[in-house]
Amino acid sequence: MHEMSLAESVLELVESTARRECAVRVRRVILEIGQLAAVDREAMRFCFDAVVRGSLAEGALLDIEVIPGSGWCPSCAATVPMDERIAACPGCGGFQLQPTGGTEMRVREIEIE
Ligand SMILES: [Zn+2]
Repeated sequence: MHEMSLAESVLELVESTARRECAVRVRRVILEIGQLAAVDREAMRFCFDAVVRGSLAEGALLDIEVIPGSGWCPSCAATVPMDERIAACPGCGGFQLQPTGGTEMRVREIEIE
């Protein structure tokens, strides 16, 4: 489950931000997960809850926003929506799509107090 190491890097980022701001507690973390990022949302929640124990972010709410996937089709010379990493182009049915959006996971916002 690679979500565990992802959750750990999220926590590292959150904690270093919180420390820099002299926060006593992290209230909320907003995480963006791309549809093509191959990150399971439920697993991410589970791992986040596990890694934040005993940290500044213990008890913090985790909000997950899904960023839609998109890809570039060389045949159509157009950007098209993609639901999965291996997807057919909705325009021409070809399998040459290069993912261009929704491939990453990032922390968008942190609420501290
Ligand atoms: Zn196409």
